[in-house]
Amino acid sequence: MQRFQLYIDGAFCDGEASFDSVDPATGKAWAQMPEARETDVDRAVESAHKALYDGPWSKLTATQRGKLLYKLADLVAANAARLAELETRDTGKIIRETSAQIAYVAEYYRYYAGIADKIEGSYLPIDKPDMEVWLRREPVGVVAMVVPWNSQLFLSAVKLGPALAAGCTLVLKASEDGPAPLLEFARLVHEAGFPPGVVNIITGFGPSCGAALGRHPRIAHVAFTGGPETARHVVRNSAENLASTSLELGGKSPFIVFADADLESAANAQVAGIFAATGQSCVAGSRLIVEASVKDRFLALLKRKAEAVRIGSPLDMATEVGPLATARQRQHIDALVERSSAAGARVVTGGRVPVGEGFYYPPTILDCDGVDSPSLAEEFFGPVLSVVSFETEEEALRLANDTVYGLASGVFTQNLTRAHRLMKGIRAGVVWVNTYRAVSPIAPFGGFGLSGHGREGGLAAALDYTRTKTVWLRTSDDPIPDPFVMR
Ligand code: NAD
Repeated sequence: MQRFQLYIDGAFCDGEASFDSVDPATGKAWAQMPEARETDVDRAVESAHKALYDGPWSKLTATQRGKLLYKLADLVAANAARLAELETRDTGKIIRETSAQIAYVAEYYRYYAGIADKIEGSYLPIDKPDMEVWLRREPVGVVAMVVPWNSQLFLSAVKLGPALAAGCTLVLKASEDGPAPLLEFARLVHEAGFPPGVVNIITGFGPSCGAALGRHPRIAHVAFTGGPETARHVVRNSAENLASTSLELGGKSPFIVFADADLESAANAQVAGIFAATGQSCVAGSRLIVEASVKDRFLALLKRKAEAVRIGSPLDMATEVGPLATARQRQHIDALVERSSAAGARVVTGGRVPVGEGFYYPPTILDCDGVDSPSLAEEFFGPVLSVVSFETEEEALRLANDTVYGLASGVFTQNLTRAHRLMKGIRAGVVWVNTYRAVSPIAPFGGFGLSGHGREGGLAAALDYTRTKTVWLRTSDDPIPDPFVMR
């Protein structure tokens, strides 16, 4: 079995324990992973703290930090194929997607490399004649980063890029469900030449590793991606160290199709929105809200496309839907489909666990019209689409906003004024009009409500990893006057 190591203080090491990682395509263990517990977490955080305040990193100029990030970007691009294969092997995400996504991850590092020396402080036009006052922007401190299994290289790039550009140091915890790509990525960080302790990459279980990391007294900020329940633990733990948090959580994103839309194009976008990554995507367009007059036609299109999807080994370039990442995930999806069927949802296609090895689940469509189906409210994080229809634009908007989440949304219409009304009315952090699942390092990303808070991507994300310091300099040579009056 292949063995992986933790990366702490610029060195590769074993963890306090170890665990087996399972190949989702076979259900069998394929690699041994190091398990970090409290002592490893403590060592990693202490090394990040030392690197932030005492090490060579603290003396680098912003431009030099940017150069290291450029180097990392080049290394990610050069090693994309190898990293993609590892991610596919460990999480079951299809190679077609991991290859393209990881090649694009390099662009995130490049974007933040360029931003490193553009994070400016400011000069304040203060209301006192003998004072000069500035705001300095300094790194927020040691950052804890916690990510789930899906798209780990991507979900960590949107944290590492801006944090390193801002001058922070960090401890990144890879998900226990498929940590191989991030543990391997540590080798590129090392090769790029980041000083020891600047980037530490560990893995372990939520309660013993993630919690110890999040509540560590030296942590200033926790950047978390995962489910809302875990996010509540993260926020509770932050009561210990009073760290700030940014939370990228789940979603139940509406995908609205009007009768005037290009239905073929919308159907392709819907397939991408719900079946790509086997539905294990936080932005999955999991609630189709379709105008009643085209519902049957659109569903027939979708059914045909869903049934034509090539399901198979995630390592095969021809595969379109691979296995789910874990057996636990498949049980959750199966149980929610069962509960929804029991509530009256009609299975249009799929909806059954296939026989054979691996954690596969077929593309599934549930017609939920007139049914109070749990599938309309709860996140599957799997390839299951719930469908409802509407008669009016107001009804479409009401249905779209009928959720505790607010991450992404899609609107398909040729009507420009209606598109404008909806992009304003939808309560979600991202609105895609006549497209879906598009991302860029230049475009901020994040949610409302139970989808979390904070934004990743864009310039503002780098500023979020800074804190300001106000500096007052008195320019008068006269003695300080009356000490009992505030100046
Ligand atoms: P999860 O919340 O179970 O786990 C995420 C991470 O948190 C893992 O690394 C886990 O070890 C860690 N963790 C668990 N308990 C912890 C604790 N007490 N303290 C600190 N860390 C702890 O999520 P998951 O099931 O692995 O991933 C699926 C969820 O992630 C879905 O809800 C999905 O929508 C969400 N997600 C969101 C985004 C986004 O950008 N908004 C992207 C991808 C996934």
